[in-house]
Amino acid sequence: MHELTLAEIARGLADKSFSSEELTGALLARVKQIDPQINSFISVTEELALGQARAADARRAAGETGALLGAPIAHKDLFCTLGVRTSCGSKMLDNFKAPYDATVVAKLAEAGMVTLGKTNMDEFAMGSANESSHYGAVKNPWNLEHVPGGSSGGSAAAVAARLLPATTGTDTGGSIRQPAALTNLTGLKPTYGRVSRWGMIAYASSLDQGGPLARTAEDCALLLQGMAGFDAKDSTSIDEPVPDYSAALNGSLQGLRIGLPKEYFGAGLDPRIAELVQASVKELEKLGAVVKEISLPNMQHAIPAYYVIAPAEASSNLSRFDGVRFGYRCEEPKDLTDLYKRSRGEGFGAEVQRRIMVGTYALSAGYYDAYYVKAQQIRRLIKNDFMAAFNDVDLILGPTTPNPAWKLGAKSSDPVAAYLEDVYTITANLAGLPGLSMPAGFVDGLPVGVQLLAPYFQEGRLLNVAHRYQQVTDWHTRAPNGF
Ligand code: GLN
Repeated sequence: MHELTLAEIARGLADKSFSSEELTGALLARVKQIDPQINSFISVTEELALGQARAADARRAAGETGALLGAPIAHKDLFCTLGVRTSCGSKMLDNFKAPYDATVVAKLAEAGMVTLGKTNMDEFAMGSANESSHYGAVKNPWNLEHVPGGSSGGSAAAVAARLLPATTGTDTGGSIRQPAALTNLTGLKPTYGRVSRWGMIAYASSLDQGGPLARTAEDCALLLQGMAGFDAKDSTSIDEPVPDYSAALNGSLQGLRIGLPKEYFGAGLDPRIAELVQASVKELEKLGAVVKEISLPNMQHAIPAYYVIAPAEASSNLSRFDGVRFGYRCEEPKDLTDLYKRSRGEGFGAEVQRRIMVGTYALSAGYYDAYYVKAQQIRRLIKNDFMAAFNDVDLILGPTTPNPAWKLGAKSSDPVAAYLEDVYTITANLAGLPGLSMPAGFVDGLPVGVQLLAPYFQEGRLLNVAHRYQQVTDWHTRAPNGF
């Protein structure tokens, strides 16, 4: 049963091939058996899951239908989940049980989804390798010596290892798309404001966005349908109607204009990945797409701008974890200053501390104009580049990452080397645009992703193109050896 996609599970539950309780029991057993190898879960919520599964079976017996009713999910451990530890991958929140459900968690539960647990992640979603978690590194099921990507590395590894068909993630600078690429999944970062951030522990509020990770575009469509929508509790949520994403999957690609930014194919990109990207372009051309070269001239400034803006917002968001109002408190503080210093010094890991310091510096009087304001100006230029490009093309295509998954530990002593891996993903966050990564081949046995970017609220278009591509390719169906 663990090999079924979400769409197949929906059919199996509808035609009563199995019950949600049977499915849930089988997957929980598999999580227990397999997960020690990859460490993708921080918490397994067995009782919650079995209760939800029985309730879903009862709803179905009473005549209710719905693709997600009784289907399994696991949430990245920064979505608040009522009564369940919500750690954000940090010692700071190791004993935090959320007193409410995040909107995403509540919406998916109302649709009848069964929560198997909470997935491992980089501490406070800062990272690209899932090595900064307080709960240990996550391993890539495609090669256990390699990282799965981050920060939603647990969400990605769990699906790649066929522990369950789909998970939630969040993407501030690539944390859905990059781990999806590195583990052979389809991952979608929606338009900023499409999915409610309420109850998501904030990293960088103007960039954070929740979204689905699954094996297929078809499954991402089902999950996004359940996650998206206006939420009055999130002041940046946008009141736009939610289209029927599944209905749009089969649309024709005839005449679709795809732009390839010339800046994407320069130094730094593994040439074997460049070849696979070109091969994916050929497939889309066969389906009717028309390809042209475009330019995103300010792309080179994106990493420096992002690594000012994101830490600046993080330094502000994380100030609440002071051992008094929220979070870990040190033993026997001498006085108030000692309490603050040691609680934060002991509760936060090295990468989080580094970013708080960078962010605080960038926001301080005297440096604010030189760094923070400058970065915001670059952000606008990057958005303008995209708006100009989307006058000529419907979609932008390129690699998701410049390299395949690297070895555990290979970049942990050099944070900038890891930051450079975000070069293709962070521009979408800076501009607020939707982006999707889909499986497009292998290099040295490790998966490679192709990224598609679209204008605001065109998630349906991204899913449509990925679905059509997945009907003529089989990369996304391949499973890692032993899983
Ligand atoms: N790798 C990026 C960072 O470390 C993105 C993380 C994310 O999207 N949450 O900030």
